[in-house]
Amino acid sequence: DGTIVKWDPDQMRKIQEHPCYSEKASHTFGRAHLPVAPKCNVQCNYCVRKFDCVNESRPGVTSEILNPEQALKKIRDIVAEHPYIKVVGIAGPGDPLYNEATFETFRLIHENFPDLILCVSTNGLLLPDKIDLLEKYGVSNITVTMNALDPDVAAQIYQFINYQGKRYDSGREMGELLIGKQLEGIRLAVERKMLVKVNTVYIPGINDSQILEIAKKISSMGVYIHNIIPLIAQAKFAHLKPPTMEEKLAMQELCKPYVKQMSHCQRCRADAVGCLGKDINPCTGHKSE
Ligand code: SF4
Ligand code: SF4
Repeated sequence: DGTIVKWDPDQMRKIQEHPCYSEKASHTFGRAHLPVAPKCNVQCNYCVRKFDCVNESRPGVTSEILNPEQALKKIRDIVAEHPYIKVVGIAGPGDPLYNEATFETFRLIHENFPDLILCVSTNGLLLPDKIDLLEKYGVSNITVTMNALDPDVAAQIYQFINYQGKRYDSGREMGELLIGKQLEGIRLAVERKMLVKVNTVYIPGINDSQILEIAKKISSMGVYIHNIIPLIAQAKFAHLKPPTMEEKLAMQELCKPYVKQMSHCQRCRADAVGCLGKDINPCTGHKSE
């Protein structure tokens, strides 16, 4: 099926116990997202900042931000009560790699709960710079949101990026920098035997031409799974029409020969806890159906 990578037993466990990497696991095992990362170094045209990062989460619900000690306490409480939680992820509300709290949180959790699978989601800009730290703290599952391979298309999707104190406003240079970092980050993660998922926001009229190209590229790089997410039309992209379910399924069919397609993504909140689609209500502690 185009996959060139063989998974070792440790990687297999991190696939089989991760509800996003394995649909089967999604019925048995849960994940907890820790909202410790409020800042972002990128401005996506589809993002409304007061909401959670759409790269991994559903907008419309703001999260309270936890500090690393509060996050550790939350995990202590959660695993004591819900032992089926096997994965701890940091997915926002901003870009995790742009927030120091992310690394301190991973350090604390890795030290205290070495068996939990650690997972992070990022726009990828800082991935090459932070990959060694992620490896040090045992982060094994990495999601990168890649919306384009062509820098001119990227220029239509991102308003600006901040890298090492310099701001790059929309344009080819910005696109080249971001895409270059994303690809380099993915390469380094696969090299370190991390399991990589790529999210692509499907933005009709903007990046239709890019999605199959992304699937081919990431397949050749050893990415495990591809998650095509329909646009949520808001912010600068409020006027665009999201893809229909049929369009999304057709795009997944096109990409499937190259890389495994994720079909059970629930677009979780940055503070989601529980099995996919059956989150424990953060207010009541009860599962919602
Ligand atoms: Fe928003 Fe996430 Fe894009 Fe940052 S990377 S602008 S938080 S969608
Ligand atoms: Fe998994 Fe999708 Fe939820 Fe992320 S947003 S934790 S990929 S189901």
